[in-house]
Amino acid sequence: PALLLLLRDLTRQHQVERMRADFVANASHELRTPLASVLGFIETLQGAARDDAKARAQFLELMRAQAERMSRLIDDLLSLSRIELNVHLRPTDTVDLGKAVRHVVEFLEPLARERGATLELSLSDGEVFVKGDRDELVQVFQNLIENAIKYAGSGGRIEIFAETSGTARGESTVSLSVRDHGPGIPAEHIPRLTERFYRVNVQDSRSKGGTGLGLAIVKHILNRHRGKLVVKSEVGVGSVFTARLPLAAPDSVAQPEH
Ligand code: ADP
Repeated sequence: PALLLLLRDLTRQHQVERMRADFVANASHELRTPLASVLGFIETLQGAARDDAKARAQFLELMRAQAERMSRLIDDLLSLSRIELNVHLRPTDTVDLGKAVRHVVEFLEPLARERGATLELSLSDGEVFVKGDRDELVQVFQNLIENAIKYAGSGGRIEIFAETSGTARGESTVSLSVRDHGPGIPAEHIPRLTERFYRVNVQDSRSKGGTGLGLAIVKHILNRHRGKLVVKSEVGVGSVFTARLPLAAPDSVAQPEH
C-alpha cells in the first residue's frame, strides 16, 4: 500500500505540474495576442501610415484598447493568484449582502445604460448577512452582473435577487442570483465555464473585453467561502448564475462592520 500511495502522490503531483504548465502557456498566449497587434500597429505607424494623421489617431485608439485588455488580464491573473494564496484562510468580515450588491449595481449602472440593459435589484440593505471577505464577494457579484450586461445586455432586464434556505445539515444558505434574458448557453459548455480561459465563443468574449478568467475567479472565491456557483441556462431563453453562500450566524451580525 505504501508503494501505491507513493504512486498516487506522484501522479497527482504530475497532474498539478501539468496544469500549471498549461496555465502558463495559456496566459502567455492570451498576452501575446494583443501584444502582437500593438506591435503590428506600431510597424504600420512607422511605415505606410507615417504621414496619415487620421490613420494615426485611429491606430492609437486601437492600441489603447489592446493595452487595456492586457492590463485587465494582468489584474485578473493577480486576483487569481492572490485568492489561491488565501484559500486556506477563513474570511471573517460580516458582510451585508444587500449593501454590497447595491454598490456593485450602482457601479455598473452606466455600463448597463450604455448597453440598453436595466438592472433590477430586489434585495435591501440589512436583510441578509454572510461571513466573508467583502472585496472578494464584491468581485463575485461584479463579474456575474457584468457578464449578464456583456453577453445578454442589449435591451434586456437583468434581475438580481436573493433566496435563503436551510440545508439538510441544518446550515442556512443564501442564493444570490443574476438572471438575464439573453442568448443562453448550450448545455455542453456549462460544466466548463469556470475553467480558466474557457469561453463559449472566443471571438465574442474578446470583442467584449473578456479575459476568460471571470468565472474562474468567481469559483475560487466561492470555494474559499464554502459556497458554490450554480448555473442554469437555456438557449434562446436566458441564464441564471447563482452564488450560494452560508449565512452568517445570527449572533455574529449584531455589529456588522459593513
Ligand atoms: P469572459 O472574460 O470571457 O467573460 P468568464 O469566465 O467571465 O470570461 O465567462 C466565460 C464564458 O461564459 C464567456 O466567455 C461567455 O461565453 C460565457 N458567459 C458568461 N456569462 C454569460 C451570460 N450571462 N450569458 C451568456 N454567456 C455567458
